Amino acid sequence: MQYYSLQNHQHRVSFREAVIRGLAPDKGLYFPVEIPRLEKDFIERIDEYDPQYIARKVIQPFIGADIPVQALTQIIRETLTFPFPLREVEDNVYALELFHGPTLAFKDVGARFMAGCLGYFRKEEEKPVTVLVATSGDTGGAVASGFYDVPGVEVVILYPSGKVSDLQEKQLTTLGRNIRALEIKGTFDDCQRLVKMAFLDEELQARRPLTSANSINVARWLPQMFYYFMAYRKVKQMKKDAVISVPSGNFGNICAGMMAAAMGLPVSHFIASTNVNDTVPRFLENGKYVATLSNAMDVADPSNFVRILQLFAQNDRALKASLTAYRFTDEQTVAAMEDVYARRRYLMDPHGAVGYLGLKKYMDSHPGYCGIFLETAHPVKFANTMPRSLREAIQAPERVMILDGLEKEAVLMDADYAKMREWLLQTSKAAVTADAK
Ligand SMILES: *Cc1c(COP(=O)(O)O)cnc(C)c1O
Repeated sequence: MQYYSLQNHQHRVSFREAVIRGLAPDKGLYFPVEIPRLEKDFIERIDEYDPQYIARKVIQPFIGADIPVQALTQIIRETLTFPFPLREVEDNVYALELFHGPTLAFKDVGARFMAGCLGYFRKEEEKPVTVLVATSGDTGGAVASGFYDVPGVEVVILYPSGKVSDLQEKQLTTLGRNIRALEIKGTFDDCQRLVKMAFLDEELQARRPLTSANSINVARWLPQMFYYFMAYRKVKQMKKDAVISVPSGNFGNICAGMMAAAMGLPVSHFIASTNVNDTVPRFLENGKYVATLSNAMDVADPSNFVRILQLFAQNDRALKASLTAYRFTDEQTVAAMEDVYARRRYLMDPHGAVGYLGLKKYMDSHPGYCGIFLETAHPVKFANTMPRSLREAIQAPERVMILDGLEKEAVLMDADYAKMREWLLQTSKAAVTADAK
């Protein structure tokens, strides 16, 4: 499969090159030149297949010969090592739980799949590549865990000091080895700005080659399609049309869902549920950074939205027939968490709660569907910002307790590009001398 830059449809690259580059040289996002169609028979019999087979069927056409089937099967096996349960929360309302991976948020699948692909492509290279990534919380942990110990890959994660949850911080600062964290005195947007400047800095890149692991990377974006197939596989026997609500920040996850639908997966409607960083609900207005409870969705400029526009060939009418977007405040989010817990004893995290609210709002005016919202993180990740009454209900998985005893290791730094650049060059040199010894 080839990919073109959304800035210039003539610029075409292979899957391999799209993964290694992340972003096209003209700063456009990569997009597949064609949308593969799944056979009807595969969709009709989807409940007979196991998740790994489904994943391979779905992703293989996007990769083609760049990764041989055997290696791809292995990458998928190492990616999908945990379940995606669908829980009934209310009549016709289901939570698809995507938080059973190592860092307790849905980004584990994309990060692990991308690590597998990059590891495969870099296997023969001598010089290590550095994955440089800014995080508002969950990306950093998923990337740290997914790329941990991948040969030939170093990871540097920038996160805004004091603006990620305690558990999120532990997840990205305690692994060590090839993973390092920079704690930036600033906001997530500052972190992103620093990362963008580094990508534009050719002299730096000549000395320390960089790549990104944000959802702009096709190897992180596309495997998120798996969730929607897993959900459909489970609701298929209910014989009702499905609508899916996705708590959205950068719109990578929901865009993957819409790609799955374009391939032939029967989803009647998508709902993008956002917090008050509501650029898409307000469509063209510019969002300002506002810290919220659902911090993984604090994105002022949802980069993947241009891919959604492209999926609909810039046809607003068709887009609006498939996608509705709603915004919710923190007060509404907390009220939903409390209400659902009181009535159903189901504890949602703030992101899932935003998804739940969007689903309910849509279903109020569109009854008769089977409604699914994506529960994108485990509530324990946001324990320190949840109301006390709910905090007590959290059941922390064992892998969280283990983190408690580990020491945080991060370099505290001003949001200053010259300082970060200097640090990147120094630590890179250190790596070279250490290797030479
Ligand atoms: C990243 C994240 C989101 C937003 O996903 P996008 O693909 O950026 O829209 C939602 N919930 C959680 C828990 C996340 O970590």
